[in-house]
Amino acid sequence: MGEAQMLLHVNQVSMAYGSGARRFVAIEDVTLSLQEGEFMALLGPSGCGKSTLLRIIAGLQTATAGEVLYRGQPLRGVNPHATIVFQTFALFPWFTVLENVALALKAKGIPAAERAVRAEEAIDRVGLDGFESAYPRELSGGMRQKVGFARAIVNEPELLCLDEPFSALDILSAEALRGELLELWTGKLIPTKAILMVSHNIEEAVFMADRIVIMDKNPGRIIADLPVPLAHPRQRKAAEFQALVDQVYAILAGQTQPEAVEIGTAPGEPGPTRRLPRVVISDLAALLERLTTAPRMQADIYRLAEELGPDSDDLLNLVEAAELLGFATVQAGDITLTALGETFAEASILARKEIFASRIQRLPVFQWALGLIQAARAQALDWDVIQAALASEFPPPEAARQLETIVNWGRYAELLAYDDDSAVLSLDADTA
Ligand code: ADP
Repeated sequence: MGEAQMLLHVNQVSMAYGSGARRFVAIEDVTLSLQEGEFMALLGPSGCGKSTLLRIIAGLQTATAGEVLYRGQPLRGVNPHATIVFQTFALFPWFTVLENVALALKAKGIPAAERAVRAEEAIDRVGLDGFESAYPRELSGGMRQKVGFARAIVNEPELLCLDEPFSALDILSAEALRGELLELWTGKLIPTKAILMVSHNIEEAVFMADRIVIMDKNPGRIIADLPVPLAHPRQRKAAEFQALVDQVYAILAGQTQPEAVEIGTAPGEPGPTRRLPRVVISDLAALLERLTTAPRMQADIYRLAEELGPDSDDLLNLVEAAELLGFATVQAGDITLTALGETFAEASILARKEIFASRIQRLPVFQWALGLIQAARAQALDWDVIQAALASEFPPPEAARQLETIVNWGRYAELLAYDDDSAVLSLDADTA
């Protein structure tokens, strides 16, 4: 094997929208290279210019400054070697799966018979064999997205660009499709030379990519470029995996120190267990959303308290939770959203759950509770048993409140299940 070939070189690219007083710099001075064989993930808060950059690379949009080189040649117009798969793929409802996929070849002037053969092959590769004559309405969300992938790979693009391709799917379908795409890619079953995936999901990026590029905004720019030196298939529970996830979280949360907030120890371990602030997730999300509209994503906590009136006691709990989870930082009476908090506020419901799950799994009290349930016979435990164990750290009424919070947060994150009738906690089906 010779030297890896440089596929794409983005050289000092900037993109400004509008002009005069309304000029807005979406991305500034972005330089980035992609070689054959690389799978790069692009992460960053909403509005940092990920989609803009992807559109410029695909040639759907021209940068206001800088240039894009593809195999050493300046890109002009649409990039014929790149295809984008979007989050929600618009399929034509009155066409079958085969027709939807074959359509991608029609524009290229390929004869009908060949179109059908190639479309059938692509459908086969994504595992939709047997569904050629089905209509989109007969398919699940995951299957429809597979049609989207088939439509992208039927063109055999060298550069496959994915714009949050799994974020509209339920957790199980997303996970299955990620695995299938990785099989195609690592098994070299598709002629794709490089993949560039925009994601909101840090674990997804660490699970799939060889390299993670992190952007921040105002103006949109690259702030980190990390290799992911893990072999496939990757184990999400492995220490090296978690260390990388933590590192990416830390960059997005704007932390230079591994953990800025004291997270305490597990019950029974030396040192105090941190009391979880009692908050409802929807209120936390509302606070983070409110902060996204504030100047510099920052607000005076006392002003916020006035705004909220009598409920301001809750506000302090919310602020504490936001800080504990890395969604905000607090300094001199001001609360400031971190890039991670912003990502959460702007993410889809499912992406929010995944971010939240990752964050709470870092908390010793959660690791402890999950571990306790996992170790139990039938992987289920009575509420009272866990509450009694928590009573080594907290007085009984507080132990009950802590457990309520653990259950609320764990249910939201789809890590825990709780049966109200039997008062039994168990692991969520996915976690188990
Ligand atoms: P991301 O994909 O990271 O969420 P985008 O590339 O969609 O970011 O947007 C980057 C910034 O550029 C955002 O502030 C967005 O509002 C702005 N923007 C995107 N497209 C346009 C446009 N056509 N006109 C004006 N502003 C735009």
